[in-house]
Amino acid sequence: MESRAQVRVVVSGATGRMGQALARLAAEEGSGIEIIGGVARASYESQWAGEIGYPVVEAADTCEWLLREAEVVVDFSSPQLFRTVVGRHAALLRGKGLVVGTTGLEEEDHRLLGDAARHSPVLPAANFSPGVNLLVELVQRAARALGPDYDAEIVEAHHRRKVDAPSGTALHLGEAVARGHGSALGEVRRDGRSGQAGERPRGQIGFHAVRGGDVVGDHRVLFLGERERLELAHSAGDRSVFADGALRAALWVHGRAPGLYSMRDLLGLG
Ligand code: NAD
Repeated sequence: MESRAQVRVVVSGATGRMGQALARLAAEEGSGIEIIGGVARASYESQWAGEIGYPVVEAADTCEWLLREAEVVVDFSSPQLFRTVVGRHAALLRGKGLVVGTTGLEEEDHRLLGDAARHSPVLPAANFSPGVNLLVELVQRAARALGPDYDAEIVEAHHRRKVDAPSGTALHLGEAVARGHGSALGEVRRDGRSGQAGERPRGQIGFHAVRGGDVVGDHRVLFLGERERLELAHSAGDRSVFADGALRAALWVHGRAPGLYSMRDLLGLG
């Protein structure tokens, strides 16, 4: 029987924790993905590219040829490398699938994603785990049902090397609460409290970031009422849950019409 062609993927952020998890999963039989190379901070890292499952790793300024060869580009890197790949090399990505897991992106970065989506199927997600995407739905429902009389606080924990806070997933959950309340997150967001923090205003959405050890990613959304508390929580056991979701996304965007998609579309949560 003829074997199905594999989708040719380039990973931006290849040598990082997620880049390595992606390569491990893609190497499994039947993944449907061929990783043809990666982009990382410096090409010296390519000395050990083979050991982490990459035929080649290029630095940001030598990766053009590699991007040209890709059918789908998967980015788990930093906002800086994201801007190089999706901004500076936008023309090279035209028509190719784009999956973005990098967090800490700014408004201008989201505009880059919108621009890319005019010519390519693009799927960005702050979290690729099915459980978290379902959690977002549940949180929005809970916020709508309970209303702003139940104070919403989001507590997240991650490993000590995570550079952005609060996590992209926590912000995503905060947006779900705000949608449920009919408010705008930018107007009600409160990051941490200390000193004379004052009385908590109704409708505020609080964020608290815990950092330490090797925590892969925990998120807890608290709805604190006068006489009861509701908690909705998710714990990621292993970062392969994100890698698995991102590879599913790479297969899903491949050959799809240009547009900005989400994990809700992929998981049929709509
Ligand atoms: P990491 O620090 O372990 O790896 C980052 C990778 O990007 C490395 O290969 C590094 O060489 C490369 N890189 C970063 N900046 C660069 C630059 N300016 N030029 C060239 N290469 C550069 O990080 P990680 O834990 O793998 O996470 C990567 C990103 O993915 C983070 O933004 C993290 O928050 C996010 N993340 C998202 C999800 C999700 O499900 N969406 C899950 C986990 C992590």
